Amino acid sequence: MALVVQKFGGTSVADAERMREVAHHVSRTVRRGDQVVLVVSAMGKETDELLRLAGEVSVVHPGREMDMLITAGERKAMALVCMALHHIGIDSESFTGSQAGFLTDNNHQNAKILDVRPSRVQASLDAGRVPVIGGSQGVSIDNDVTFLGRGGSDTTAVAIAHALSADTCELYTDVTGVFTTDPRVVPTARRMHNVSFDELLEMTATGCPKPAMRSVEYARTHGVRLHVRSAFTWQEGTWVDEEVSNMEQAIVSAVTHDMAEAKMTLAGVPDRPGVAAKVFRALADLEVNVDMIVQNVSTQGVTDISFTVPHNDLPRAMEHTQLLADELGAGGVTADDSIARVSVIGAGMRSNPGVAATMFETLANCGVNIQMISTSAIRVSCVVDGDEVENAVRALHDVFGLAED
Ligand code: ASP
Ligand code: MG
Repeated sequence: MALVVQKFGGTSVADAERMREVAHHVSRTVRRGDQVVLVVSAMGKETDELLRLAGEVSVVHPGREMDMLITAGERKAMALVCMALHHIGIDSESFTGSQAGFLTDNNHQNAKILDVRPSRVQASLDAGRVPVIGGSQGVSIDNDVTFLGRGGSDTTAVAIAHALSADTCELYTDVTGVFTTDPRVVPTARRMHNVSFDELLEMTATGCPKPAMRSVEYARTHGVRLHVRSAFTWQEGTWVDEEVSNMEQAIVSAVTHDMAEAKMTLAGVPDRPGVAAKVFRALADLEVNVDMIVQNVSTQGVTDISFTVPHNDLPRAMEHTQLLADELGAGGVTADDSIARVSVIGAGMRSNPGVAATMFETLANCGVNIQMISTSAIRVSCVVDGDEVENAVRALHDVFGLAED
């Protein structure tokens, strides 16, 4: 008998019909002799709808009230899914994040899990029931309801899987798994049979939308084996696990892209110790997450520093960097929000030179100019013009032989 956590995303529980299908799938799993814990997201676009309502009612959005509001979406879904299970004779009970033992910090709208105390969920399992947990929520150390952030249900699922020592955590969604690149850009993109935690983490950090990056981090830290699969076809999807040493491992496993960052350039800053520290400490204090950073060779004692920041943070980052530029006597600050980042990822890169060279040659052959470069042990990323990124993705997917054959 295995213990399986099954998480269903918004589209998987979007209406009554979908909920009945989910219930039947749970029934199949139970008949196979396995125990199931369910985690559900809010139905369909419910979270967006609740956020929209909040915007309509007020310009003031206290974190505590926002979390009370948003978590109502998952609460509605979990009670309905329970009823769908009862309807086909499966004894089940729903649990809010708090009831399920998710203790979080006070950081409303993006709370972090501090501890999971799953005694009620365990008791429910021991009594032969199917516990259904509302995703993306918990209770803070101050006893308030908290929301774990967008995509937080994936994290709920991974965390409860770890807390209960489940055998697998299945993340059901509306696609059939993790792909070698975005299938909307490259129709021949291939579903990966398996991918390592490290690779998937790099992928989610550079544009792969699912699963949520935080959940992959959690899974990697605690070694929770994931299975990303479809709640529409129910076919086997992508397994996410520790890296296996495999002689035939591809050097490059995936190509990702994202348009979520903007580039800022601080021109003509004095080239002396402490300047970069000052600039990036100021951004850190603003909670701006800086990604790529490039500093030019200095000429005549001054240099340029370019870096990328998330689009949403650009106005704040610009304002404060401008002030700092004046203070430092720098040349000025400019921003470009039409950039994109294209990345190639593969664990095989660790032991195979030449990936960066092939990537740059491929971009050159398409006439794509590289504005910035960054690398990790298993990733090479380039910032390019936003209009050219899809071409770049297609060419790279092709050159590294990732398409379906
Ligand atoms: N419903 C929430 C969202 O859309 C949480 C989740 O689905 O993970 O972000
Ligand atoms: Mg969701």
